Amino acid sequence: MLSRHVADKLQNYETPFYLYDIDLLRRTLESVVYESAKHNYKVHYAIKANYDDHILGIIREYGLGIDCASGNEVRKALEMGFDPKGIVYAGVGKRDKELRYAIAQKILAINCESLEELFLVDELSKEAGCKTDVALRINPDIDPKTNHCIDTGQADSKFGISYEEVLERVSDIQALENINIIGLHLHIGSQIRELHVFENMCEKVNVIVANLDSLGFNLRFVDVGGGLGINYDVPENEPIPNFASLFSIVNQYLSVGDREVHFEFGRSIVGECGELITKVLFNKTTATGRRLVIVDASMTELVRPAMYGSYHNIENITSQEELRSKYTVVGTACESTDVFDENVSLRKTKRGDLLTIKSAGAYGMSMASRYNLHDLPSAVYSDEI
Ligand SMILES: *Cc1c(COP(=O)(O)O)cnc(C)c1O
Repeated sequence: MLSRHVADKLQNYETPFYLYDIDLLRRTLESVVYESAKHNYKVHYAIKANYDDHILGIIREYGLGIDCASGNEVRKALEMGFDPKGIVYAGVGKRDKELRYAIAQKILAINCESLEELFLVDELSKEAGCKTDVALRINPDIDPKTNHCIDTGQADSKFGISYEEVLERVSDIQALENINIIGLHLHIGSQIRELHVFENMCEKVNVIVANLDSLGFNLRFVDVGGGLGINYDVPENEPIPNFASLFSIVNQYLSVGDREVHFEFGRSIVGECGELITKVLFNKTTATGRRLVIVDASMTELVRPAMYGSYHNIENITSQEELRSKYTVVGTACESTDVFDENVSLRKTKRGDLLTIKSAGAYGMSMASRYNLHDLPSAVYSDEI
């Protein structure tokens, strides 16, 4: 963890803040670029994981495309200089103005998640006097064996069009004159650590693609989404996710001819390069004997523990004490769920110590809020300290 090595320097910054290890980000990007090139796979970065300018600038250097979940994300990607033809836009609920904007930008594909959306994109494209490239986001009905808060591909989930519905309406879909259906898209969930789940996914995709082929669709690419998990438990053991093993599974199991294969990684690209650095405000013991450490961050900087019950490894980076104790680390917000973790073994901790909450580069800053009128956290980058 970077913070341990630069703890002295970190004392100079106002807490809480995100600390980004830019060297690790670069090594992660080198790995994903190198491993994907072996199979000619195309990688998009899911910008919702972290849309920090400095980070996006670095990601752009490595030639990744962008996966967006809103019109403003499309705008951000374009403003940051990403090629429109490397941008895809998914989302169950796109507003008319977001669709009009995306249509005008001529991005790689709008990934439609309902038949109504497909018909609307056709209508809005006609109004705009153009033909729009779209992909069908199909719900593959797969259990990704992850936290149920972040699975997206099971049959009753809100994401994607049901495959049955597509089959029932083939002729209506093919009659649309102002769209080109150029891709198939799916995304089964996030933080997937059991890679065999991707084998099932590939087998489903093979069947779907073969059927759509025989029905006369002309798909140029298959986008299998993101979801590769990271090691929240012991991030030091696996700072760079194992892209190679995911790619080799897909290479082995996916059989879609010579179509392009796309991935959309968020967490696996930026998750491990970010830490939330926070200062201990107070120690106290509850009437029941629970020892609390109250830190100056809260769910407003990092909502994942409060929202999903997710685990982040925490360490005291400034204490010199040999003795360790068990603490409950809580934040400042007026919410009982604002707890970062219970029973955390930390070096004996006192007011003023700095703690790191690790693996916070993805869905950390991008989910920050101003609840309680907290200021948004700032960012410190390793290449600038
Ligand atoms: C969120 C999302 C991703 C990225 O997911 P990660 O688990 O962060 O890799 C990719 N594709 C779509 C459609 C998404 O919604």
